[in-house]
Amino acid sequence: MARCLIALGGNLCGSEALFQRAIQQLDAGGDRVLAVSRNFETRAVGEEAGGGFLNAAAVLETAAAPLRLLERLQAIESECGRERLLRWGPRTLDLDLLLFGDSVQWESRLILPHPAMWLRRFVLSSAVAVAGDMWHPQLGQSIDQLWRQLCTSELMVSVNLSAELVQAEDFAGFLEQPMQHGAVCFQRPDTAVEADVNWFARLELRRADLRNPPWSYPEAYPGARTLVLFVRSPENAIEQLRQTATAITG
Ligand code: ATP
Ligand code: CA
Ligand code: CA
Repeated sequence: MARCLIALGGNLCGSEALFQRAIQQLDAGGDRVLAVSRNFETRAVGEEAGGGFLNAAAVLETAAAPLRLLERLQAIESECGRERLLRWGPRTLDLDLLLFGDSVQWESRLILPHPAMWLRRFVLSSAVAVAGDMWHPQLGQSIDQLWRQLCTSELMVSVNLSAELVQAEDFAGFLEQPMQHGAVCFQRPDTAVEADVNWFARLELRRADLRNPPWSYPEAYPGARTLVLFVRSPENAIEQLRQTATAITG
């Protein structure tokens, strides 16, 4: 049996009933639901995301293999009326597999632990309510520790440009000055660090292409506390930095 952590997400309207339905279906499908958090109202990340969101988390015990569980989650999403029109767009129900025991894998169909859970306040706020002691096997930290890191008042994210972008004309001078979004400061690694700012993550900007469109994940694990953003243009990069900051600060 593996202990898993599931994130539930959805638009404010109608999601409460769907969350209940999803939990019932998981329980009826042979997995044992051990704990469910209350619902948390969260701010939408990104302009296409629609209004506010509702998030919750559930701890589950399953005998199924990771991919089998993902298929089960996706079947419940479809059954609850989810249509995949736009990545990160408005949706009725989103079920993400955050943790599956201590499994670590990076495959396009299933990345474990979920690649962005450690930096998303809208995910960790509910996760910490039911699974503070669960372990992120790849970062070697508990959910509780990850959550406390996010709640630090000033966070620094160092931004590296891929070699290709360093040479690109449109990116010349990109982020010459640190960029502050709420509690998050994005700056190039060669910029002097302010003493009272905590280093939080490394971010790598790469040029988006057909295989890696903007807002997609890379094919391989980018390194601990590293996030890769595929960007189309400096404007798109700034928009993605903003969204990243919103995810971090909630
Ligand atoms: P994000 O994964 O960044 O939260 P999203 O939930 O909006 O974005 P979806 O459109 O729901 O993304 O899923 C895109 C694909 O992600 C799915 O088809 C699924 O195969 C894949 N995926 C990879 N790892 C996971 C995971 N840990 N949990 C859920 N889906 C995953
Ligand atoms: Ca998601
Ligand atoms: Ca999803």
